[in-house]
Amino acid sequence: MENIYFDNSATTKIYRAALKKYVEVSENLYENSSALHIGGINAEREIEKSRRIVARSFGASTDEIIFTSGGTEGDNMAILGVAYANSRKGKHIITSSIEHHAVLHTCQHLEKEGFEVTYIKPQKDGKIDPLDVEQAIRHDTILISVMSANNETGVFQPINEIKALCGDIILHTDAVQAYGKMNFSDINADLITVSAHKVHGPKGVGTLYVKKGTKITPVIFGGNQDGILHSGTMNTPAISSFAKAVEIFNANLEKNIVYLKSLRSYMIEKLNSIDDILINGYDAVNVVNVSFKGVRGEVLLHSLESEGIYVSTGSACNSKSTDISYVISSMGVPREFAEGTIRISFSEFNTKEEIDFTVEKIENILNLLRRFKRR
Ligand code: PLP
Repeated sequence: MENIYFDNSATTKIYRAALKKYVEVSENLYENSSALHIGGINAEREIEKSRRIVARSFGASTDEIIFTSGGTEGDNMAILGVAYANSRKGKHIITSSIEHHAVLHTCQHLEKEGFEVTYIKPQKDGKIDPLDVEQAIRHDTILISVMSANNETGVFQPINEIKALCGDIILHTDAVQAYGKMNFSDINADLITVSAHKVHGPKGVGTLYVKKGTKITPVIFGGNQDGILHSGTMNTPAISSFAKAVEIFNANLEKNIVYLKSLRSYMIEKLNSIDDILINGYDAVNVVNVSFKGVRGEVLLHSLESEGIYVSTGSACNSKSTDISYVISSMGVPREFAEGTIRISFSEFNTKEEIDFTVEKIENILNLLRRFKRR
């Protein structure tokens, strides 16, 4: 058997057609899309074609789509841009304690600049309660930033219910983990961040959706190549390859969601035959976040790796740390379980046979580790 890749929340394998597109555009449309000659005009046309494809996937118009270098940049642009543009109105921001570091560290940076941030904790099931958000709203709240789906548990958040409470407060959602796992025309937010490499596109490219009329200021300055909010030479091959990936996943979106959910349920059903485990969070599409009592997540991870199975202990940016994940501890998972947490995340390329093989290996490894511990 080939290696089993169950770390799709960290990144996905690029679709072959998206990779082909990347190479073709690098070779044939390498000119600078801001150049006035026909080479530049053709590159610009390719970008605009890609923008139409990405905009359609959001149910948005093309002037609401900005190409970024990925999720981190999109989150930074959205949060800093809204904070600076609206600081005269107020300096209070609401976010959750389980956001990705691209959001948390940006908010912490703003705190050093005099903004106040309220961090809402999730409930035990990993969900943010809209009532907690409502109670945190103040007269000087200018921005709410809550992720659409969590990167460690995959749990979806009630974005539309939060939007209904916002009034004139701007709502940003980091939807990096939700893109390709729900119909995006259904999300109601003023700013939405996504990243191509989580949906079988290339790394280093993404989109920030900015609803028309949203008050935001640029935080990156230069030649205004992608409108006033984003400067820098346009990355034509990456953008075009991203759009190809979007076309592919959108053609099968509903079917893929059903398939991913079936893999998740199948894995949970199999894992439930093991003693002393906790499945963390429900309402996810492609992630099983599971804690095993009395073992260490990283030991389990490396034991699985030696069997050719790739999982992670938390989010990719966090996975080198052996500390307990802040997401899992925010959900109140007891320490003896939290230490033994792994994240198994699927893509459309995974199969039930891979799950059978993996659960069998997990059982063997746990038997060994737990027996060793009892001695
Ligand atoms: N936000 C979330 C929820 C993520 O999972 C990630 C990546 O792991 C990011 C932001 C950062 O995206 P990128 O790797 O494209 O910078």
